[in-house]
Amino acid sequence: NKKLRKAVIAGNWKMNKTPEEAKKLVGAILPLAKDAGCEVVVCVPYVDLFPVLEAAKGSSVGVGAQNCHWAPSGAFTGEVSAPMLASMGVQYVIIGHSERRTYFGETDLTVNRRIRAALDGGLSAILCVGESLEQREQGITSELVAMQTKIALGGVSAEELKRIIIAYEPIWAIGTGKTATAEQANEVCATIRATVASLYGSSAADALTIQYGGSMNAKNAAELLAQPDVDGGLIGGASLKPDDFAQIIKAAG
Ligand code: PGA
Repeated sequence: NKKLRKAVIAGNWKMNKTPEEAKKLVGAILPLAKDAGCEVVVCVPYVDLFPVLEAAKGSSVGVGAQNCHWAPSGAFTGEVSAPMLASMGVQYVIIGHSERRTYFGETDLTVNRRIRAALDGGLSAILCVGESLEQREQGITSELVAMQTKIALGGVSAEELKRIIIAYEPIWAIGTGKTATAEQANEVCATIRATVASLYGSSAADALTIQYGGSMNAKNAAELLAQPDVDGGLIGGASLKPDDFAQIIKAAG
């Protein structure tokens, strides 16, 4: 069934790189994507979008933002909307990253509104879900991730689901160097797929790309990506290092 899905390796640069630095980094990533057996995406800070889009023009590298607002325009100081991003040529947007949920008060409901806005604006969304260490120890990971997935996908049609990637990112693994085991990653990705199957049917779920994220690196990528329900990665730290990112891309296909 893995063959039904496209493998997607996405870099999440987070709040790193000035426009000048971004141009340099994407320049190093472009050749990696050329003969890649997977799709390569970079999700960059808003101020880096213009230079990165310029550099990536005509290449196979997809460009994404790291958030978008739920309204198309209006009095929302400091925010950026999906139609604004789409008009620039941005294709992807990360929604519901745990750093947004933890530091900026995002809830499952605001995540759902932003998912809706991203789709309405013509973007593809990388929806992030995942549990804290405390929640894992309480044994509620499956229920929690299923609920995050269901709420985030509220009002999303089967046709729109084709523009959704889900990233399973255990919070305890993000930026910590503590990666989920391949079994843990696969188990939760399979839970997400079953949840999507319950909502949209099994063929829609079979076609859904589900990524793992959380300290994925050059060393552990191959084992994680070989899991039957892991179709790619959302990569933070290692996506800023072209040599490491190159190895992850290789491991994906
Ligand atoms: P990390 O970040 O690879 O640095 O753990 C992943 C993410 O937050 O998307």
